[in-house]
Amino acid sequence: MSVALFTHPAALDHDTGEGHPECAERVRYVLRALEAQMFAPLLREVAPPATVEQLRAAHSAEHVDFIMSLPRDRTRYIDGDTLYGPGSLDAALRGAGGACAAVDAVMEGWAKAAFVAMRPPGHHAEANRAMGFCLFNNAAVAAYHARARWGLARVAVVDFDVHHGNGTQDIIGHDPDLFYASSHQHPCYPGTGLPHERGIAGNIVNQQLAPGAGSVEFRRAWQEFILPALRGFAPELLIISAGFDAHAMDPLAQLRLREADFTWVTEALLAVADDCCPGRVVSLLEGGYDLDALAASAAAHVRALLRAA
Ligand SMILES: [Zn+2]
Repeated sequence: MSVALFTHPAALDHDTGEGHPECAERVRYVLRALEAQMFAPLLREVAPPATVEQLRAAHSAEHVDFIMSLPRDRTRYIDGDTLYGPGSLDAALRGAGGACAAVDAVMEGWAKAAFVAMRPPGHHAEANRAMGFCLFNNAAVAAYHARARWGLARVAVVDFDVHHGNGTQDIIGHDPDLFYASSHQHPCYPGTGLPHERGIAGNIVNQQLAPGAGSVEFRRAWQEFILPALRGFAPELLIISAGFDAHAMDPLAQLRLREADFTWVTEALLAVADDCCPGRVVSLLEGGYDLDALAASAAAHVRALLRAA
C-alpha cells in the first residue's frame, strides 16, 4: 500500500496579501519538496470541495453560510489576521473536502495513510467563528465525516502545531467519542489549551511547552502524556493536525524543534495507529511559516508516513 497526497491548485489562490506569513508559497514549497524521487510512490490525488452537509456537521449553519456568502470582489479582513479574497472559498472548501477524501482513501483501504497539502489551515476555526488564518476546521470536518460516512465510533485528532487548536477543541471537546490532544507553546496565540481543559470525558489532553523548549521537552510531553492517553482512547481513525511551526527557524513562535522531531512524533503516532486502527492515519497541513523549514519538516513527516505504508 502507499500514501495518498491530496492537493489542488486552489490552495495557491487564497490571497492573503503582501507580507502575510500564511502565504501561497507555503504550499508551493511543500509540494516542491514532495517532488523528490523518494516521493514517487505517493498517490497524487485531487482535493475535492467539501459539501455543505460535511461542513455543517462540524460548524454552525450560520458560520458555513457566512463564509460562503462573503463578497469575493477583493481581499478583506475577517479579523485581525484572517483574510478572505476572491480565491479563498474554493481553497477552503477543498481543504475541508480534501480532508474528507483522505478519510475515504484510508477507509476504502487503497491508501494506508494520506497527507493533505492545502491552505488555509483549519485548527483555529471554531464551530461558529473563523480566526487565526482559518476559515473551516478541516480536522473536525474530517472527524465528523468519518463518523457519518463510515460509522466510526471513536476518532482522534492530535495536533503538534506550535499553536493550540482552540477550534478543534471547541468543536469536538463536548463529544466523548472524539478525542483531541495538543502540544503547544504557552504563552502564545491563541492562549487556550491549559492543562485543566479536559473536555467532557477526559477526551481533551493539553500539553504546554515553554518558549525555548526543544526536542527533549516536546518528546517527553508526547511520550508521557499524549501517546498514553491516545492509546487509552483506542481510536478507529487517527487524524493529525500537522503544523510545522514548532520548528526552531519558525518566525511565529519560540520552540526549537528540528526535522528529526517531526519524524519522531510521526513514527510514534504511526505505532499507536498500527495497534489501534490498522495504521489508518490522515494528516492535514496546518501551520509552518519558515518556508525552508516547513518544506523540510513536511517532507520528513511524509517520508515517515511512506516508510510505514
Ligand atoms: Zn500554528
